[in-house]
Amino acid sequence: MAHLRLLLSALKAIAQRTKSIYLDKTLMVGRFSGTEFCLVIKLTHDDSYEDLVEQFLTQLRAPLQVNNLWLNLNYRIGTCSFPEQSSNAKEVVRRTAIALEAARSENTSIRAYKEGEDEAYLERLNLLEELRETMKRDSDELFMVYQPKLNLENGKIEKVESLIRWIKSDGQFVSPELFIHLAEQSGLIIKLTHWVIDTVLKQQQAWLANNIRLKVAINISAQDISHPDFIDYVFEKISQYNIDPDLITLEITERDIMTNEDLVISRLKHLKKTGIQISVDDYGIGQSSLGKLKQLPIDELKIDKAFILELDTSEKDQFIVKSTIELSHQLGLSVVAEGVENKASLDMLKTMKCNHIQGYFLSRPVKSADLLLWLNDYE
Ligand code: C2E
Ligand code: MG
Ligand code: MG
Repeated sequence: MAHLRLLLSALKAIAQRTKSIYLDKTLMVGRFSGTEFCLVIKLTHDDSYEDLVEQFLTQLRAPLQVNNLWLNLNYRIGTCSFPEQSSNAKEVVRRTAIALEAARSENTSIRAYKEGEDEAYLERLNLLEELRETMKRDSDELFMVYQPKLNLENGKIEKVESLIRWIKSDGQFVSPELFIHLAEQSGLIIKLTHWVIDTVLKQQQAWLANNIRLKVAINISAQDISHPDFIDYVFEKISQYNIDPDLITLEITERDIMTNEDLVISRLKHLKKTGIQISVDDYGIGQSSLGKLKQLPIDELKIDKAFILELDTSEKDQFIVKSTIELSHQLGLSVVAEGVENKASLDMLKTMKCNHIQGYFLSRPVKSADLLLWLNDYE
């Protein structure tokens, strides 16, 4: 209750300050939603738009007294000008919101709307709607492919990574990075990951029926693992398809582990206890140190392909990869190098005692039937 009172008083104080900063230029001030405010100011020919916004932010940021407390608050500003960047009120509002969203995702304080962003935004909305429809239809436009991971010690393929594909009925390929990102932003990822888990475990059951025992990695996002029903869903599917939890690995990026860190770690601990393996994806491009990894309930580390693609020619990458492998081993982690595209890199990774490799040199991600043919040839 006390928190709520403080929040309300803070909102009032911010509104007062917002109103007072450009009294002579202000046309309108309002609260938009939650903690978002909208300010409309009139610029004269002499005004520099950028300078005014900078000055505004500086004044806004001064400590704010609320209920006898001095608060230093963080603000973000998205801007759009009329008529230069928009042609009507609706557009101004939408484009300002787009600029604000960009300020959030780029972690900057001030962000002006950029030409073309609205069109791109609408395109993304359309794509998201199409994805929603495609999922509802349960059409074969969405399917899973599998990419083998080679064990460098024994030369065997014991694991694969599952990766989603969306090829529209007109043959257009949609990048998973793009639609996964959209699904994450809109919350649709929860349903999509449910579909992925169901599809992959069903596939695994079919493989097991044919005496093919492969560990399968499934990519999950921070939102999936933070969702209260995630663990129950995984176990419902494990028992429905009668899969040994040891055969399942969940891949989560270090960035996603650090989002909502405490909750994610406690969920990962729970999952790990059941025998499911946890892998840190895209390691090296995020913020966390290897020291941080020591505290995480993980089994495997995947070195991001950014360090592997040119491993054979880049001494810098060789140095980073070699030391990452050594330190990971000291922490008891198994290491996968992803993005191995040539034999020279594979040989180097072998010398560095990397545990598994994955990449186009071995095989591209392929459908189950092709994977089985490939495995037959490989052995
Ligand atoms: P990721 O999990 O790091 O997957 C590895 C990506 O590297 C895949 O891209 C794979 O096709 C690609 N790759 C593998 N070997 C090579 C190589 O030798 N060279 C190059 N240049 N690339 C290689 P893909 O399939 O386009 O997936 C991109 C990302 O989308 C994935 O990165 C993952 O973050 C996400 N994603 C894909 N499928 C799923 C899914 O089912 N669920 C979720 N949540 N995310 C997924
Ligand atoms: Mg992955
Ligand atoms: Mg990766």
